[in-house]
Amino acid sequence: MKLHKPQSLLRILSLFCIFLGFCLNIYAINEYNVNPLPTSNNIDIPNPNVVIVLDPGHGGYDKGCTGHKSHEKDVNLLIAKKLRQSIEYMIPGVEIILTRDSDSFVSLEKRVQIANQSKADLFLSIHCNSLAEGHATGSETHIAGLDFVNADQHEYLKRHNFIHPDALKELKKNPISNAEKMVLLKQSLDLAEMVQSSLHDNLPYKSRGIKESGFTVLKYLKMAGVLVEVGFLSNKNQEQYINSEKGLEEISYALASSVNTFITDTNLIERKKEAYKTFVSKFGSARSFIEETYSIEILITKGSPLLYFEPKWDNLESIYIVKENDHYFYRTGYFTNYQAAQNALPGIQQLGFDNPQIVNVPSKN
Ligand SMILES: [Zn+2]
Repeated sequence: MKLHKPQSLLRILSLFCIFLGFCLNIYAINEYNVNPLPTSNNIDIPNPNVVIVLDPGHGGYDKGCTGHKSHEKDVNLLIAKKLRQSIEYMIPGVEIILTRDSDSFVSLEKRVQIANQSKADLFLSIHCNSLAEGHATGSETHIAGLDFVNADQHEYLKRHNFIHPDALKELKKNPISNAEKMVLLKQSLDLAEMVQSSLHDNLPYKSRGIKESGFTVLKYLKMAGVLVEVGFLSNKNQEQYINSEKGLEEISYALASSVNTFITDTNLIERKKEAYKTFVSKFGSARSFIEETYSIEILITKGSPLLYFEPKWDNLESIYIVKENDHYFYRTGYFTNYQAAQNALPGIQQLGFDNPQIVNVPSKN
């Protein structure tokens, strides 16, 4: 009898632990499912296509530099859109993502996040230059440089408040090793050389060469990336050229050619197809992993489901309500890739849903 009491206590305690474990587990599952950042379901699913991210610098209230008659943000966007057409024409089958395709403000961290999350192969940030002396001329290309390889940089930057907490969180979650950084640096330098030599060959002004810079949009990328200053808006003639149909045509042709050279020289299209084939042979059908892995979450309610749906809900093509614990998640659409979900976001917002979020959802299969 003496032993009975402690035994009961032990049993209650262990039951409580099991219960606690169960609760924590459920909580973890919930966290995973409501995470607005897409994760790869713990399996690194290769994209059989080459993905290129074009990043028109500045936007919204951030005008960039100003010429005599144009703002950099507008010129950058014009070039990016033209470049998208040129690449699509020159290299069929590549996926092109713009970090913004309207006059909107996108933070530097968000630009990096878009590129990293879409597992892009190549990142090209587009800018125009400016100097007080009006006659400065030429194009130049920037890469992240050697400080990017410094192992202590994250801590150093954090101490000096140079790094946005979100970017730091992202890096801590998924850091890049120094070996990987060296490879990326080499690839970025190769890309920069191709970009700069193509600009030199195709534009009617001089090349100012390749420079090392600690730009945020380059430093945290997990792919080859460069930032190109296509010319000077502070130079009247150059501003006129960049804004002209001929100028836009030549700049986008020059950039698209260098992207094409990079893809061809690194055998990128074949290597990606090969990686995908290996994945399929390892996991059987890759379709079950790839299909329908994203959805758009429009609302979460706690405790009880929504009893009245406003008329705007009728305009959604589909609604899925998922109950987990005491939360109800209201989602619309299933998408095979993140970009497709992102393309659908503006349409959902137009229907009057203020803050739709792309979420990872389990595959239907
Ligand atoms: Zn700029």
